[in-house]
Formats: sequence, C-alpha cells, structure tokens
Amino acid sequence: MVVIQFTSTLSGERNMTQADAKTTVAVVGGGVAGLALGTFLLRSGIPCVVLEKNSREYVEQRQRAGSLDSRGVRTLRAWGAGEAVEGHGEQRAWRMDTGEDGAGAFIPQQVLVRNLIRIFLRDGGDLRFEAEDVTLEGLGTEQPRVRYRDGEGAKAIDCAFVAGADGFHGVSRTAIPDGFLACHSHEFGYAWLTVMAEVPADPAAVMAVHSRGFAARITRGPHASRIYLQCPSTTPSATGRTRGSGTNSAPGSPPRCGEGRS
Ligand SMILES: Cc1cc2nc3c(=O)[nH]c(=O)nc-3n(C[C@H](O)[C@H](O)[C@H](O)COP(=O)(O)OP(=O)(O)OC[C@H]3O[C@@H](n4cnc5c(N)ncnc54)[C@H](O)[C@@H]3O)c2cc1C
Repeated sequence: MVVIQFTSTLSGERNMTQADAKTTVAVVGGGVAGLALGTFLLRSGIPCVVLEKNSREYVEQRQRAGSLDSRGVRTLRAWGAGEAVEGHGEQRAWRMDTGEDGAGAFIPQQVLVRNLIRIFLRDGGDLRFEAEDVTLEGLGTEQPRVRYRDGEGAKAIDCAFVAGADGFHGVSRTAIPDGFLACHSHEFGYAWLTVMAEVPADPAAVMAVHSRGFAARITRGPHASRIYLQCPSTTPSATGRTRGSGTNSAPGSPPRCGEGRS
C-alpha cells in the first residue's frame, strides 16, 4: 500500500467560493490504501472523507492482487481491523511461512476492499462513490480544496490535508506541487509474466520458489486464478510490455505494481 500525503503548511490564498463540506483529511481513492487510511484516521478521532471515482459494485469486484504481506496484516490487526482478512464470505486466508515476518494472508484484493468498505462505513465513515473529475486545488496552502462531480452536480470539500491514495494513474501524483514529491523505487531486475485464468485455484495458492525463479498460481476468487512466471525484465509480453516489474516485490512474492484500469 502506498499513501502519498501532502501537508498544507504554507500560507496562501483561500478559495473564495463556498465549499459543500469541510473535513480534516480528504482521501482521494477508495482502494486498500485509502480505505485503510480512512479507518485509521477515524479510529484516531480525525474526520475524513474518502472519494472513490468508481461505483461500490465495481470496486468490490475488481480483481487484482491475491495476497497481503505480513506487514499489511499486522498493521490492520494493530488498528483493530484484522477482520478485514479473516473469515468473510469468499475470503480465503492462509498463513504464510515467512519466518520472523509473521503471517501474511492469501485474500483476493476485491474481498479485502469489500471488507474494508464495510468496516469504514460501520465506523461511520463518509465514503463517496462515483466521485468523478476530482481536482485538487490549493495544495501547499492552509486550506486545500478538492472538487469533484457526482450525480447531483459539482461538489467541493475544504480540508486541512489531502491524502492521495488513488494509485499510480490517479490525479494526485501529478497535482503535487514541484519540489514536494520524492519518489523511491528499487528494481530487482526481473519481472513476472502473468495470466488471469477463468478457473478456480485449488488449492488456493501454489508457489514454486527456486534459484532460477518463481512460479505460482494464486486464487482471485471462487472462479478465477492468476498464474505467474518469473522472467527477465527485458522479456516483452504479448501486449508489448512486461507485467509487474517487481519494483517493490521480493523474490517469491507476487508482483505489486498496479497496472491496467484502476
Ligand atoms: C495483476 C496484479 C497483481 C497484483 N498482485 C499483488 C499481490 O499479490 N500482493 C500485493 O500486495 N499487491 C499486488 N498487486 C498490487 C496491488 O494491487 C496494489 O499495490 C494495490 O492495489 C495498491 O493499492 P492502492 O489502494 O494504493 O491503489 P488502488 O488499489 O489502485 O486504489 C486506488 C483507488 O483510487 C481510485 N481512483 C483512481 N483515480 C481516482 C480519481 N481520480 N479520483 C478518485 N478515485 C480514484 C481507484 O478506482 C481505486 O479504487 C497486484 C497488482 C496487479 C495489477
């Protein structure tokens, strides 16, 4: 999970028009990062609004990752949100033998998102789906404003902080003022070729870790699995590019680079 957060510590011009709502933190993006952050904020007594551009139905069915590493599981548990990876509907959790790192979980990302949505709403969270055309104004000022559009028309939220949790292709990255953004990445020198197959994975995860590379088949829900094969990062895929370049993954872990429609 990656959360980019801007602090609004510099003074500047306030927006002249009235906002529809005020909050402390406006979180852009209702994925794993945005929903987890929203839950952590609420549980810290900090008001927030989470804006998600897609519908609830869409994000609860969007298939992507299949595992959450031990740090993610530990963090959710530390905030009292461990139920997000435990025993709900189609959720399938396994303990991973990761040594001192503790237990990760094999859980389809859409199930994790669905569980986090339920927890956030149950906590009284303000989660707005189908918030389109999000734009960020006044970053670096005392009162940033987030504008968006929904079925009723144009809306604006004034806030003290904006948390950009809308993924690599979201609007937040490009809205960060010059000089505020620091990017850190690490290339492991290999990639994963992956195929999404409309077949159940039974057992839910089979992984082969070898000195020559990694291969796996991991559940993506009751009717789908994703198959991985490690290859040199220079190998072109059928679409002309490699999947999941492993920029923030360790050998033996599934890819963690978001691609495709968000
Ligand atoms: C094929 C594949 C397999 C993967 N496997 C794994 C794995 O096994 N384990 C793992 O840890 N990671 C895996 N990943 C990576 C994992 O999916 C990402 O790290 C994770 O989705 C990042 O979560 P996020 O909340 O930061 O971003 P996202 O999940 O991308 O969430 C961002 C949210 O913001 C919303 N959004 C985007 N733009 C806007 C906007 N302008 N306004 C409002 N909302 C917006 C999106 O709809 C989305 O809901 C995989 C990724 C892919 C593609």
